Amino acid sequence: MQYKSTRDGSANVTASHAITQGISKDGGLFVPECFPEITGSELSAMTAMGYAKRAALVMSKFLDDFTNQEIEECTGLAYNEERFRSPSIAPLHELYDGVYMLELWHGPTCAFKDMALQILPHLMRVSAKRTAGGKEIIILVATSGDTGKAALEGFRDADDTRILVFYPEDGVSPMQKLQMITQEGRNVAVCGIRGNFDDAQTGVKSIFTDPAIAKRLAANNMMFSSANSINWGRLLPQIVYYISSYCDLVANQKINIGDKINVVVPTGNFGNILAAYYSRKMGLPIARLICASNRNRVLTDFIQTGIYDRKRQFYTTSSPSMDILISSNLERLLYDISGCDHSEINRLMLDLKDKGRYKVSDTMAESIQSLFSAGWCDDSMTAQTIRDVFNSYGYLCDTHTAVAVNVYQEYLKETGDQIPAVIASTANPYKFSANVLEALGGDTSSEDEFKKMDRLQALTSCEIPAPLAAIKGKPKRFEKICNPADMEQVVYDMLHIG
Ligand SMILES: *Cc1c(COP(=O)(O)O)cnc(C)c1O
Repeated sequence: MQYKSTRDGSANVTASHAITQGISKDGGLFVPECFPEITGSELSAMTAMGYAKRAALVMSKFLDDFTNQEIEECTGLAYNEERFRSPSIAPLHELYDGVYMLELWHGPTCAFKDMALQILPHLMRVSAKRTAGGKEIIILVATSGDTGKAALEGFRDADDTRILVFYPEDGVSPMQKLQMITQEGRNVAVCGIRGNFDDAQTGVKSIFTDPAIAKRLAANNMMFSSANSINWGRLLPQIVYYISSYCDLVANQKINIGDKINVVVPTGNFGNILAAYYSRKMGLPIARLICASNRNRVLTDFIQTGIYDRKRQFYTTSSPSMDILISSNLERLLYDISGCDHSEINRLMLDLKDKGRYKVSDTMAESIQSLFSAGWCDDSMTAQTIRDVFNSYGYLCDTHTAVAVNVYQEYLKETGDQIPAVIASTANPYKFSANVLEALGGDTSSEDEFKKMDRLQALTSCEIPAPLAAIKGKPKRFEKICNPADMEQVVYDMLHIG
């Protein structure tokens, strides 16, 4: 299996290359040249397997330059009860008849990013052995809050690897910030930037693709890689949990093999929902993909109109991990929908860069609409949904997940669709205690994040996850803030290369 760049028809690399390199030199994203099928009998066999085995089966279809033993070692090290607080790793919770919450936050940092970032360092280690020629891997991350912590936790103390995370100074929740600036490990660093997530992501992308910077690193026997969802090694593990959730529905006799499901995803950078789309391409019986946005509704507008326009007001919301106006992974969907037309992708991405907007052809817009539905909700509807879901079903969801639930409820009102739905539950509510507590009408009158967590627990009787409770009292290690223009220098400083 070869991987191609969305922007250059001649690029052809192995899975190991795609994972160590992170992004193609032309600025495009790596995509597999084809999508292997997952058959009904494979799905049926997988119902009897644990999560790590399911992951190995799915991932081996794409990582054909890994041995089966290597893949099983990677999935075994990542998906076990030492790393995840649930034996099912990604359990399904039935909200009510036919609606299931896919809980993706039982990992060490309590957000769905752990599903991929617990295994990425292992995939990277195997890949680097083949392709990096002994170079030290420097992981650069731009985060809207959850990726940063999950990447730090995944890569901490990994051999021959260093990791540097940039986050928007005022664009993450207090708990997300605390989690990052107290990070332990000898190979980690964290820096805030005066700007939003898009500034951080644009800065990181341009550092990645600057040949002069790459040369300077190479001279020091180092190379960059990415832990953002632009890296294929981030996306692939995300395909697994959609397939796994389907197997769980079959195993619990909620559906039969072949029955269709809908999938609802709270969306920011378009990675998570793209993984669902890819699982559908492999043959998972998904009817509709429902894309949920917060007030930064650039994706909702795009799916409904075919026009992507980032030139709009940016809002800071109660679901900060979705406060994004440039959704990187949409490029992979466009590539696929256009029939792998890299010159068309170049045109669209150039328009995005130069004019801040692009319009896809009517044919492309129609194919997207034939599969995707989209909706959005603001902070007050998010809060109301948290309250309603808790009062009606005794289920506590975080702000991001609440956006998805709300958009799904609106979708149901409009369509009356009867197909069972899997809703991606992307973070533990205690990562966003202040907003969740406020939504439930609790007392938010304290500056102390931990007091709010205690109050939320008293109000809901939901358990505070151990890794969040443990942050209390940890020393703050990283309090540096820089301007976006200085990110390059911050990288050199961290690496001590001038
Ligand atoms: C990252 C994140 C999202 C958005 O996922 P994308 O893959 O960027 O679309 C949603 N919810 C939470 C809690 C997240 O951390």
